[in-house]
Amino acid sequence: MAEETIFSKIIRKEIPADVLYQDELVTAFRDINPRAPSHILIIPNKLLPTVNDVEAEDELMMGRMFTVARKLAASEGIAEDGYRLIVNCNPFGGQEVYHIHMHLLGGRPLGPMIV
Ligand code: ADP
Repeated sequence: MAEETIFSKIIRKEIPADVLYQDELVTAFRDINPRAPSHILIIPNKLLPTVNDVEAEDELMMGRMFTVARKLAASEGIAEDGYRLIVNCNPFGGQEVYHIHMHLLGGRPLGPMIV
């Protein structure tokens, strides 16, 4: 069994977060340390630590993360100018919280991807 993170508590509303969207598959909330005018995290309700843990049975949930990202980009007013979706995996990918999350970043020009 994977170890729970603070994100499980956000899903269960056990700690405060600025939750923008929740359904039976995913939850989206504002990042506590925003690195752009819009910085939202979209996470599966099911605990998968990293992208390395994704299986075929998770495809509906993974797809939902993109649909929710698209809708939130529209409601944030950043869809037309553009935005970036990022999923970090493990230490070399810069992952710090081991519950898969998609960063939705926008509201300013983000520049080239730094690798
Ligand atoms: P990185 O910090 O390198 O982006 P991750 O991809 O693991 O690493 O991102 C974790 C994100 O979770 C960070 O952007 C961090 O600000 C955010 N975060 C951590 N704790 C909370 C919280 N309680 N509420 C909202 N966002 C959080």
